[in-house]
Amino acid sequence: MKEIYGIPVSAGIAIGTVWIYDSQTVHLPHYTIPPEKRAEEEKRFEKAVAAAGRDLEKIRSTLSEKSSSMESLMIDSHLLMLQDPELRSRISTGIREGKNAEWALGEASDFFIQMLNESGDEYLKERALDISDITKRLLRKMNSKNSEEDGNPLAHLPQDCILVSRNLLPSDTLAMDKRKVKGFVTEMGGRTSHTAILARAFEIPAVVGVRDVLKNVTNGMKVIVDGNRGVLIPNPTPEREELYLRYMTEWQLKESQLLTLTHLPAETRDGKRITLMANIELPEEVDSAVSHGADGIGLYRSEFLLMNARVEDNEEEQFQAYRFVLDRMNHKPVTIRTFDMGGDKVVRAVSTAAETESNPILGWRSIRFCLDNPKLFKTQLRALYRAGFQRNLKVMFPMISGTQELLRVYEVVKEVREELTAEKIPFNAEMPIGIMIEVPSAALTSDILAKHCDFFSIGTNDLIQYTIAVDRGNERIASLYESLHPGVLRMLRIIIDNAHKEGLMVGMCGEMAGDPLCTVVLLGLGLDSFSMSSAVIPEIKKMIRSVTVAEAQILVGRITELETAAEVRQHVEEWMRERFGEK
Ligand code: PEP
Ligand code: MG
Repeated sequence: MKEIYGIPVSAGIAIGTVWIYDSQTVHLPHYTIPPEKRAEEEKRFEKAVAAAGRDLEKIRSTLSEKSSSMESLMIDSHLLMLQDPELRSRISTGIREGKNAEWALGEASDFFIQMLNESGDEYLKERALDISDITKRLLRKMNSKNSEEDGNPLAHLPQDCILVSRNLLPSDTLAMDKRKVKGFVTEMGGRTSHTAILARAFEIPAVVGVRDVLKNVTNGMKVIVDGNRGVLIPNPTPEREELYLRYMTEWQLKESQLLTLTHLPAETRDGKRITLMANIELPEEVDSAVSHGADGIGLYRSEFLLMNARVEDNEEEQFQAYRFVLDRMNHKPVTIRTFDMGGDKVVRAVSTAAETESNPILGWRSIRFCLDNPKLFKTQLRALYRAGFQRNLKVMFPMISGTQELLRVYEVVKEVREELTAEKIPFNAEMPIGIMIEVPSAALTSDILAKHCDFFSIGTNDLIQYTIAVDRGNERIASLYESLHPGVLRMLRIIIDNAHKEGLMVGMCGEMAGDPLCTVVLLGLGLDSFSMSSAVIPEIKKMIRSVTVAEAQILVGRITELETAAEVRQHVEEWMRERFGEK
């Protein structure tokens, strides 16, 4: 069978068997139970409740071993819901009326979900998500032959599988048993979609945007995933497989050679020291940042804390998570970004309007959402200020669109600091505050913004999407998403120059910072700090150590004269070929 092409988003090669994941696999059969069988049907439901409870307890016990108490909070609330008398009594009534258990459960959960959604209370609305989660778990229990099987299929994957799906939500990626997944392939998504970012964080080879992949593969089929070139090869011939095993060994060798650079500084040949930082989504990723030689954490996407548990109003849980990262980084700098939820980052615990807005990427998200939810925002700021006490912590705010918004943020910051002072709680009064530059209006007013903060971090994932008006997660227009577009390069020039004029350091934490094709261009533009997925740090370091700033500036001078993105890309590629030889 022929190769199928997609977008390479996470490097590496994997050979395994297809396992198709369909998140909509919950079925709700409706049938009538004769009166003499109704007691038995109630028992069947009770068995499912008991099995679901055992699963949850089991998950909680493994979690507490890993000391991840945030998730155990969510499990506790699900356990309570399983025993909720009102829910149970509605289901019993349904069964006694002759409905099968799934039918009665479906009706009861619809009733509560509707009631909670209509309550107008944010907290109660969020509980509706928990009800649908617990309903799915119970339905899977009733459908599964072995009730001890854990309901979440992603937690029980076959060994060495290649996960194939139409789409994977960031929460699916977090839930999957990563030891068993050798690679993944999706029909949707782009290079900077959050699923792709997580694949790189977990170092799982991945290809996204593979059109019609589900029509071309079946469960159990052997496939090769080439995350370097963005190719999926169904049913490979033995010769093909052998060839790819060779590629795999070569790639692994190259990676291990790069790791020998871990202890060397990222310094250009003419002596400019660049800071190379890691982007992380989960506290557990710190170890990988350290082992890949990161100088610190340049972006901790704190909103991932909200994916699985209700931590937004739990200051202590957040404090622990931030301290964990800071202490594991052992005094190296850590930049934590405040919650950047909404858009494509739909988080379980906090319901923004992303599901109902017609244009969520331009909607009620990120800093806008936080400013409108002062309790949530202040809780996070308190946890951050406390965690930063005697630690090397910087905080930055996402999606800032202009100075007025930043000044509103500072009002909240001021309140938090005053409260902590009044309560005599130690905090870091000197904590540097930075902003992400990822909205064109912020880039264009960066001269003003620079006067109001301590550092900039350029979020190219969003900046490019908003500058060229290309959805970063849409595979159909992925070819239009071009980091080397002259419009993007001009934006970068403006931001970096404005920062430097005000004496600010400027970093980049968008995926462009980890793209080896862009490294020399960014050096030539004057970027001070690069933050990226840990696994690419050694390659970018190698690139930086082999060039001079002077030659990077000459390259930038040449490409700024070019008119199209295609010309710029071609010029940079040729320059790289001449400079480093064929890749
Ligand atoms: C960005 O937009 O470049 C960025 C780093 O933030 P995120 O990818 O989380 O939106
Ligand atoms: Mg962003």
